[in-house]
Amino acid sequence: MLTHFIGGLPVAAGHPFPVHDPVTGAVVRQAHEADPEVVDRAVRAAREAARDWAAMPVGERAGWMRRLAEGIESRFDDVVAAEIADTGKPFDQTRTLDIPHGIANFRAFAEIAAQRPDDAFHLSGVLSYTVRRPLGVVAVIVPWNLPFLLMTWKLAPALVAGNTVVVKPSESTPGSAAVFAGICAEAGLPPGVVNIIFGHGASGQLLVEHPGVDGVTFTGSTRTASTIMKTVADRVKPISFELGGKNAGLVFDDCDLDRAIDGAVQSVFTNGGQVCLCTERLYVQRSIFEEFCARLASRAQEVEPQPMISLEHREKVLSYYALARSEGAKVLTGGGVPAFNDHRDSGYFVEPTVVTGLSEWSRFNREEIFGPVCHVAPFDSETEAIDLANSSDYGLAATLWTTGLDRAHRVAQRLEAGLVWVNTWYLRDLRTPFGGVKLSGIGREGGIQSLDFYSEPTTVTIKLEQPDA
Ligand code: NAD
Repeated sequence: MLTHFIGGLPVAAGHPFPVHDPVTGAVVRQAHEADPEVVDRAVRAAREAARDWAAMPVGERAGWMRRLAEGIESRFDDVVAAEIADTGKPFDQTRTLDIPHGIANFRAFAEIAAQRPDDAFHLSGVLSYTVRRPLGVVAVIVPWNLPFLLMTWKLAPALVAGNTVVVKPSESTPGSAAVFAGICAEAGLPPGVVNIIFGHGASGQLLVEHPGVDGVTFTGSTRTASTIMKTVADRVKPISFELGGKNAGLVFDDCDLDRAIDGAVQSVFTNGGQVCLCTERLYVQRSIFEEFCARLASRAQEVEPQPMISLEHREKVLSYYALARSEGAKVLTGGGVPAFNDHRDSGYFVEPTVVTGLSEWSRFNREEIFGPVCHVAPFDSETEAIDLANSSDYGLAATLWTTGLDRAHRVAQRLEAGLVWVNTWYLRDLRTPFGGVKLSGIGREGGIQSLDFYSEPTTVTIKLEQPDA
């Protein structure tokens, strides 16, 4: 049974709820659901720890970040096992990408924070300078698709900037956060600096509305973000939102086609399409459209199906497969449940799927599906390709496949997206800003932008009296 982690101690309170293994559907663990009393205890613990933590020199906090990174390394196998049990992810991806990136988050933000300059402005007889102060207590709310990575991505900069935190992981994937609670305790992190509570959306709601919470950083769906925004509106709390996407891939006829096909397979089907950065709309120049579709469909048949996170999510993805058909799509491959999972009695699998033939205004092409599926459509000109990519309500990421240097820059700069990749996908430099436009989010995290969100500047202005001559 997972217990909350509050003020450095395990707290067993609240009704138990089950967590399921998406590969088999079996219950892997139980966790306690945070009720109002638990949420209040966690926020109070964070507030009590806030003053000393904020007063600590940034170099010392950076030292704690490095110690936490070492702590994760020493319990690497436990974190990997917990994450795999909850998410059903392939062992290799978890071991070589997700958890190492989580460790990198702590190390990178330790460096970035130590380099931050203070700003000072001189006018004749006046000195103005800014100091940055932490927000205080930050609520960190994260989804199930990259549980450990997304938690650390927010936690490390929030802590190094001097905040204390209350984390609420997704109800579907509490395991790796629970291991992390143990790592914090073993490292001797001052009690209350990191608090972790478990529960469903209602616990998250209690957390963001708690008056002791000074800021909210959230990764998840646009619909939940909208609810959170309304919840915090009365107290105008600072928010940072990393939300859904309906990401476009543009394939030009001057691309290296083998690379573009490999890239498309990776960007559509990684983690069963359950990554916010996955491509769900591909636009391909007409001269190579037929060949591209045929090759992509054949490669999709070789992709090993990944489990969807839950029964409900599998049903949602399947409902979009049905929607594609009812909107008149041609299904090039997939469109159902793989044969090995046909009885649907164990595990939540769907087939990797490629469809074509729908307009950009179809529901299928407008709504985020979050499954291993994409629609492919042809385009004739660069302008049309840009318009199609930008026709979405979302604007998280876009991918370009071209060998034209001018074209790559020209198109990248006109795309309404927070992130654009050229001839690659998913590569991240932690020093660069990350986030989306339109329905894909508010604000940016990454590098200095993270520290900007997790702290606020105070400008101090002093009139320097001149001595009498
Ligand atoms: P979700 O919005 O359903 O849940 C996210 C988290 O919010 C969970 O911990 C949930 O318990 C909590 N929550 C739910 N209702 C709440 C409320 N009223 N108040 C406070 N907290 C609440 O999202 P999900 O289904 O877990 O995740 C999938 C979504 O996340 C997709 O839309 C995906 O695109 C998005 N995502 C975005 C990024 C990004 O960086 N832009 C990264 C990963 C996932």
